[in-house]
Amino acid sequence: MGDQQKAPVKKGILGWYFNFNLLYRILIGLVLGALLGIIFGQKILWVAPFGALFVRLLKMIMMPIILSTLVVGASSISPATLGKVGIRVILFYLLTSAFAVFVGLMMGTIFQPSAEMATLASEAAGKAAADIPLSQTLINIVPTSVAQAVVNETVLQVIFFAIIFGIGVSYLRISKDDRLQKAGEAIYMVFDGTAEVMMRMVTAIMQYAPIGVLALVAEVFAKQGANVAGSLAIVTLACFSGYIIHIVLVYGGLLKLNKLSIRRFFKDAKDPFITAFVTRSSGGTLPVTIKASANLGIPKDISSFSLPLGATINMDGTAIYQGVCAIFISLTVTGHSFTLGQMGIIIVTATLASIGTAGVPGAGAIMLLMVLEAVGLPVEAGTAVAGAYAMILGIDAILDMGRTALNVTGDLTCTTVVAKGMGQLDKEQWA
Ligand code: ASP
Repeated sequence: MGDQQKAPVKKGILGWYFNFNLLYRILIGLVLGALLGIIFGQKILWVAPFGALFVRLLKMIMMPIILSTLVVGASSISPATLGKVGIRVILFYLLTSAFAVFVGLMMGTIFQPSAEMATLASEAAGKAAADIPLSQTLINIVPTSVAQAVVNETVLQVIFFAIIFGIGVSYLRISKDDRLQKAGEAIYMVFDGTAEVMMRMVTAIMQYAPIGVLALVAEVFAKQGANVAGSLAIVTLACFSGYIIHIVLVYGGLLKLNKLSIRRFFKDAKDPFITAFVTRSSGGTLPVTIKASANLGIPKDISSFSLPLGATINMDGTAIYQGVCAIFISLTVTGHSFTLGQMGIIIVTATLASIGTAGVPGAGAIMLLMVLEAVGLPVEAGTAVAGAYAMILGIDAILDMGRTALNVTGDLTCTTVVAKGMGQLDKEQWA
């Protein structure tokens, strides 16, 4: 990628395209797409394949990303470090993420975001999941054939296998037997390398995002007219309300419960918060988060484990976004929200999805595909689900700013609280 960026594509329209800030390009794509759709109506539908191409590219990398990032995540935590700190941190991350999905579902239920998409086919959508009882869904998480799980894109089964497999690899990596240790390291490197390659591919595919978003949004507006803009504003409002509620209730509450000054916390936490908001990448923000943790008096041995892990698996903002968007898509496509059982499935899947979400811009939108699939709303080109998903993609950059800021703040809050709980927080920094 680095080499590619250095390639001499600096002049002309291509140069302008690649040099211009991606976020703005996507926003321009969104606005242009909407305008083209409204002005030209059905006549602009020839752009649809460009949108379908974008969706296909995203779906193409979904499975390899899930497999590689989860195996790497699970095998990075050595069973030895899974001691006191590890278990606390991971439990904290999981519980706050699960609660975040709940907040997202609540926001979706309160704001009822939906768009009129009557003209698109919506027949089978939503049926599949509604018919299966929760107990069966849970048992179905365990695959009878791993190959089949991958081929059929049964995401929860792939996640289950990837985590167990990753833990197995972590045992090999710390084995005293030289042969096993080397074998573990080799497997780890293969998945780590694959995960890195996938990140490069996400970056490359995102370069196409402005065009893909333009085409997808033009198609939606051409078929639906301008009335969807209001719906998207409500989705945005629902997400940001969820983000704010989660910060105040969960992070504020946890700091207060631990007798830590919220004002003091944000004096340093604001730097990673703002950096994450602008870069939309938890991973990219990590150096700033680590610096803030040092200023907050958190010892290195806790932060060096907890923050990189958090940047990889703790995504509360993403979890809220997935709850809201799942409801938006269900309301838009099927006209009704989810049953309690389905909400349970969403809490489990979206928590896992947020773990599997890479800390890079737009990754949460890819993981949303998985949550939708789990509740019987697969994104297939030309369906209502794809139309509704496209609308979300159109505003994803805006939603991503807020959710990434939340993701990073969650990592820092957890790390601070765990350090305090273990009596390791430097009190002088809080005086
Ligand atoms: N951009 C987010 C992050 O880096 C991930 C996401 O897209 O939800 O934390």
